Amino acid sequence: MGKKRCTAIVLAAGRGSRMKSGVAKQYMLLRGRPLIWYALHAVEESSVIDDCILVTGAEDISYVKEEIVAKYGFSKVAAVVAGGKERYDSVYNGLQAAAGSSGQGGEKPGASDEDGYIFIQDGARPFLTEDILERCYEAVAQDHACVAGMPVKDTIKIVDESGFARQTPDRNFMWQVQTPQVFDAALIIFAYKKLMQEKERLLREGISITDDAMVVETFTDCKVRLVEGDYTNIKVTTPEDMAVAETLLDGRPC
Ligand code: C5P
Repeated sequence: MGKKRCTAIVLAAGRGSRMKSGVAKQYMLLRGRPLIWYALHAVEESSVIDDCILVTGAEDISYVKEEIVAKYGFSKVAAVVAGGKERYDSVYNGLQAAAGSSGQGGEKPGASDEDGYIFIQDGARPFLTEDILERCYEAVAQDHACVAGMPVKDTIKIVDESGFARQTPDRNFMWQVQTPQVFDAALIIFAYKKLMQEKERLLREGISITDDAMVVETFTDCKVRLVEGDYTNIKVTTPEDMAVAETLLDGRPC
């Protein structure tokens, strides 16, 4: 069977408030390049990914089109669209653009097709590799839904509101989850439509949706497979992460 069309949704619409910097973290320079460059470069060079929807803050769209997409020649970026308040709002906007029903800033809407796969990637993860993308492609082709992650090394505690340990889950079954998170396009579009319908109820019940797998777990019967990512596939969230990322870049070709 031939390769299916793969669309990446790269998320860069977060405010990055934990970075405590004047510049939004996705545009902070890492070895002279904006942080978002690294995920876009991995997508651009990949033989797995066909095209890409880039999700940014509404006020950043023209800056990103000129100073990132055009400047660095990211030819796979089919559209730059505005994100939303929460990560899941940004993903939803990206999915709409991928399905061709949006158009906000989209030059080539309808990049994806419902028979393909959607790779959702945090723009704040600069160490996406072709190996991870290939492992995810193989897993999604078999199981319809998969996320990159790694087994945890530390013991994890569930704590109560006062900070006391309540439970210690068996570490052998605990993974830390990364991106890409990869799904059949029709499946993830269906799950996110359901989320948008049920969002108010979930908010009232205090349930926070922190990744895409959770949307599929909550609103469909499809099981999500964990695929080996990489311990270096970190998300740059706080100033210390920037220093770690600089160190990890030592000895890398770009
Ligand atoms: O906030 P968090 O660390 O989970 O963000 C992960 C990724 O999601 C980042 O790349 C961030 O830019 C993106 N994001 C987004 N829209 C939001 C919140 C986060 O695109 N409203």
